[in-house]
Amino acid sequence: MRRTRYARAMQHATRRLHSAELLAIGTELTVGETVDTNSGDLARACVALGVHVTRVANLPDDLDVVVDAMRTALTRADLVITTGGLGPTPDDLTREAVAAVCGEDVVVHPDTLAWLEGIWARRGQPFPSVNVKQAWVIPSATVLPNHNGTAPGWWVDRPDGRVIVTLPGPPREMRPMWTDGVVPLLHARGVGADLDVRTLRLTGIGESQLAEILGDAILRRPNPVVATYARRDAVDVRISARADAARGAAELADAAEAELLGQLGVYVWARGATTWAEALDAALATRGWTVGMVECGTGGALVGLLGTLSSLRRAEVLAERPGTGDAALMAEAERVRAAADASVGLAVAIRAAGSDTDVDVAIVTPDGSRVEHRLAFLRGRHGADRAALAGAAVLLEILRA
Ligand code: ATP
Repeated sequence: MRRTRYARAMQHATRRLHSAELLAIGTELTVGETVDTNSGDLARACVALGVHVTRVANLPDDLDVVVDAMRTALTRADLVITTGGLGPTPDDLTREAVAAVCGEDVVVHPDTLAWLEGIWARRGQPFPSVNVKQAWVIPSATVLPNHNGTAPGWWVDRPDGRVIVTLPGPPREMRPMWTDGVVPLLHARGVGADLDVRTLRLTGIGESQLAEILGDAILRRPNPVVATYARRDAVDVRISARADAARGAAELADAAEAELLGQLGVYVWARGATTWAEALDAALATRGWTVGMVECGTGGALVGLLGTLSSLRRAEVLAERPGTGDAALMAEAERVRAAADASVGLAVAIRAAGSDTDVDVAIVTPDGSRVEHRLAFLRGRHGADRAALAGAAVLLEILRA
């Protein structure tokens, strides 16, 4: 017995958690009533930790189907993460499935039961016996507390060092449990320790042009992995470096980042998860400047992008541009600057240009004024959103000059 436990402990310590499969459980997913956002959230979180997500599945509330999927996943992946099916009703069967897969019996976890009873007691209500199920645990599981609901999760150590994690379905419960409960346990198992992930945020370049500049040699390199992502507000280039025998992760990431900045530096406007509002606020704060802005024909796209600027004093949305020509737009920038009693006036106006959108940006600052013309891809909402991005990009360029 003692030797078996020791062997288990050694396997836990030595098996690296490199790969994961995600199982989102719930018939509402497989009939299309709920869109599975949990898997996307968890996939991004796994990738950021250097865990390779090899498969994502949506499963109905069917015990045989879930048991079968879990068993198969455990033959392939180091980590199997489920979401959903942790409620109190008979069709919430994730716990039963994990118990069956592990060949263990569920028992009531006294601390969890006391915590659940306390929730009902605080409301002065009798504890429903159906909820006892949410206090179940199996011997190989550690309970993951849920501070936003009544469905705790489990971290289950398998004898071969693999791990099953169960999380509840509601995203507002799932996300904090992942961050506060699961990530520390993953870190304790060495996940992410030899990894350095960085993101460069680019503007003024499309994903295909970017791919051409980077070329296959960089995009297919196994380490550091360089990948591009077209987002609504930027094209992101992510560098994921894993330590090798010769060099640490940070050293590898530094070298790759320097190489990419050499090729793409002019397009980089931010790092990490920085938003346009955050980047502009930082740049405005260094000068102590405030902003007034007006947008014409963009339906509030600029407010949508920059409405949270803490240096914003006034924002106007006009249906149409007041007059044509650069002078008229610059007059608007000056007018809104004065009306806002701000340091900077920003005016953005658009006009359809075939299937694309002409974008005019006028900016006046204490240092001078500038008008820029850009062509944004597509019309309508897409064109308006890109016009707002152009306005933000020109302003940031001026502030950083
Ligand atoms: P609880 O019953 O305590 O709410 P649970 O773990 O049983 O938790 P489910 O009953 O499976 O969760 O789902 C509850 C709700 O959570 C769903 O109705 C849906 O709104 C949301 N949800 C479930 N799974 C997902 C998912 N994969 N992506 C996004 N939302 C989800």
